[in-house]
Amino acid sequence: MARVNDHYLELKSSYLFSDIARRIEAFAAANPGARLIRLGIGDVTRPLPPVVIRALHDAADELGRAETFKGYGPETGYAFLAEQIAAHDYAARGIKMAPDEIFISDGAKSDSANIQEIFAPDCVVALTDPVYPVYVDSNVMAGRAGKANQTGRYDRLVYLPCTEANGFNPALPDRPVDLIYLCYPNNPTGAVMSRERLTEWVEYARRHQAVILYDAAYEAYVRDPEVPRSVFEIEGAREVAIEFKSFSKTAGFTGTRCAFAVVPKELKGRSAAGDSVSIHSLWFRRQSTKFNGVPYVIQKAAAAVYTPDGQKQVRESIDFYMDNARIIKDGLTSIGLTVYGGENAPYLWAKTPGGLDSWQFFDKLLNEAHVVGTPGAGFGPSGEGYLRLTAFGHRPDTVEAIERIKTRLKL
Ligand code: PLP
Repeated sequence: MARVNDHYLELKSSYLFSDIARRIEAFAAANPGARLIRLGIGDVTRPLPPVVIRALHDAADELGRAETFKGYGPETGYAFLAEQIAAHDYAARGIKMAPDEIFISDGAKSDSANIQEIFAPDCVVALTDPVYPVYVDSNVMAGRAGKANQTGRYDRLVYLPCTEANGFNPALPDRPVDLIYLCYPNNPTGAVMSRERLTEWVEYARRHQAVILYDAAYEAYVRDPEVPRSVFEIEGAREVAIEFKSFSKTAGFTGTRCAFAVVPKELKGRSAAGDSVSIHSLWFRRQSTKFNGVPYVIQKAAAAVYTPDGQKQVRESIDFYMDNARIIKDGLTSIGLTVYGGENAPYLWAKTPGGLDSWQFFDKLLNEAHVVGTPGAGFGPSGEGYLRLTAFGHRPDTVEAIERIKTRLKL
C-alpha cells in the first residue's frame, strides 16, 4: 500500500458548512413551508456583465476558425490581459508593475493555497484569526502547521487575533515569522487596513526579511480613497510582498474562474546555502510546470472588464452589492445590534447580542427570522461572538431578511 501524505491527516474537518446544513435541515423538517433566506453565502448572485458575455461569444467564434484558433497559451497568461491589469490596476494608481510580474491564474483560492510550495517546510507562518481557511489548510497539507491543540489552533502557526479592540487589524507578531498572510478588505470581518497600518506591516517585513502574502480579492469594494487597494501602494512593498487578486467578486467570475498573482522581481528569498533566490523565478517555474494557463476565452472575457463599458458595468454590480450592505447594516443597527464592516467590503460582522455565542445567535436568527448567517467561530476562535452576513444576495431577499430580523427577532 502506498504511504499517504500524513500531513493531510492533521487537517481538521470543516464542520462549519455541514453543521449549518444539518441545522437548516432540522429546521425545515420542523417548519415545513417556512421560506429561508440565506444571507451567509459568499458567492455572487448577479449575472456576468454584458461586455463579458459579448467577449466570451467573440472569443469562442475565434476558436472555431482555423486562422484564429488557439491551442495552449502562455502558462502565465496572455500579454493582452496582463497589460490591461498592469495599466488599470497598477499604473493608473501610480504603481509600477511590469506585465510579466503578473501571473494569470484560475483563482485567488488556488494561488493563495499554492504559493506556500515555493517556501521551505520550516518557514514560520503567521495568519489572522479569524481567517479565510485556505491559508491554514494549505500549510497543514505541507506539514508547516504542526499539531492542532484542543482550541483547534495548530502549534506551529502564529495566530494574529483580529478583535473589536484592535479594529480587526492585528498587532505585529511577537516572535520572528517568515510568511504573513493578510487579507484586506477582510473576509470574514469586512474590516480594511489603513495606509499607516499597512506601512507598519511592510516595514516589519523589511526588518525581519519576511514575505507578506496579501490577498486583495475584495479591493474593488473599497470606497474610501484613503484606504489602500493594493499592498504595492506602500513604499518598499515590492521587496517584501506578493499580491493576489481575482475577477470573482469584482466581475462575477466565481464560476468562470480568472484571477492573478503579482510577484515583483525585486522579491528575494534565501536558499539553504544562504544564497539570494528570485521568488519571481520560482513562481514562474512552479506555474509553468504545474499549470497550463487559463482558457483563452476566459482571459478575453476578463480583458473586457477593462473596457470603458466593462468598468461601468462592474461598478454597477459592486454598487448594487454595497447598497445591500448598507440595507443590512442600517437595519441591524436600527434594532441596536453592533455591526462592523460593510462599508468598504461586502461582508458584515455582526456582534452577537446578549452574550450569545456565534451558534446560539445563528439558531436564534434561523428560528425567529428564518434567516441564515455564518457563525463567526467557524473562521477561528477570535470569530466567537460574531455572525458573518454577506451583501451578495438578491435585493428582495436582502430587504425581506432585514425586515424579518427587525420585526421578529426577540432581543
Ligand atoms: N480569497 C478570499 C479572502 C476569499 O474570500 C475568496 C473567496 O471567497 C477567495 C480568495 C477565492 O477567490 P477565487 O474565486 O478567485 O478563487
